[in-house]
Amino acid sequence: MFDYQASADLLKDKIILVTGASSGIGRAAAKTFAAHGATVLLHGRDVDALESCYDEIDAAGHAQPAILPLDLNTATYDDFIVMQNSIGETFGRLDGILHNAGVLGRLAPIANTLTKDWEQIMQVNVNAPFMLTRTMLPLLEESPNASVVFTSSSVGRKGRAYWGGYSVSKFATEGLMQVLADEMENVSNIRFNTLNPGATDTRMRRQAYPAEDPSTNPQPEAIMPAYLYLMGSDSATVNGQALNAQ
Ligand code: NAP
Repeated sequence: MFDYQASADLLKDKIILVTGASSGIGRAAAKTFAAHGATVLLHGRDVDALESCYDEIDAAGHAQPAILPLDLNTATYDDFIVMQNSIGETFGRLDGILHNAGVLGRLAPIANTLTKDWEQIMQVNVNAPFMLTRTMLPLLEESPNASVVFTSSSVGRKGRAYWGGYSVSKFATEGLMQVLADEMENVSNIRFNTLNPGATDTRMRRQAYPAEDPSTNPQPEAIMPAYLYLMGSDSATVNGQALNAQ
């Protein structure tokens, strides 16, 4: 596991947007960031699940979160502009984004992959993080030290048979991160990195490996040290890197 011990107030007063905060790793990250002092902006499409995440953070006495529902399948650039305006008006800046929302799609050989399935994976895993990052850049630039973390996968670093669109989308995620990190290095206070969670017991992992005993994989809460490290100021000089949470 990633060896890092975060201070209790690591993210005090930071405004951090987490996509896919309704379940799995994103939900655990949102609650962990809140527990370390952040005001978290909970993005997702399942409003009931986002509200229950909100209630858990509120009941724990952490900073009051906000809920930003948006279906990334259908989201357009204008939807992200609306989100940017709403965050800008309320908070005036953004200190971090965890791009965590993602879909696996159907595991199949490329030869059997339907174009519409391919496009849907690219829309959620690549196009949406591009549009979200691009629209939020002005708010990230208002932060003294902003961190953008993209979620990758081991199949985004080495291609694997039958992982098709998902694998290619994670390669694109790595590419988007590298281009942004290189472009912005000397002109902004924003850093860009990717994080591969590794096998983690979530809905997506169970979908990918239905025959696997889920208890063999760590819970999302166990992989949070790497997420805290990349979101907090201890990683202030880390830019353009591909890290592993396990
Ligand atoms: P998960 O529990 O299925 O969570 C996926 C999240 O993405 C959910 O909050 C989901 O929201 C959201 N999402 C999916 N489609 C969306 C859409 N159209 N609009 C808005 N939100 C959408 O899976 P997870 O394992 O925590 O996945 C988190 C990230 O880790 C993903 O990027 C995944 O590729 C990556 N990852 C996971 C593993 C693993 O072993 N678990 C390994 C490598 C990488 P809904 O609940 O509304 O569907």
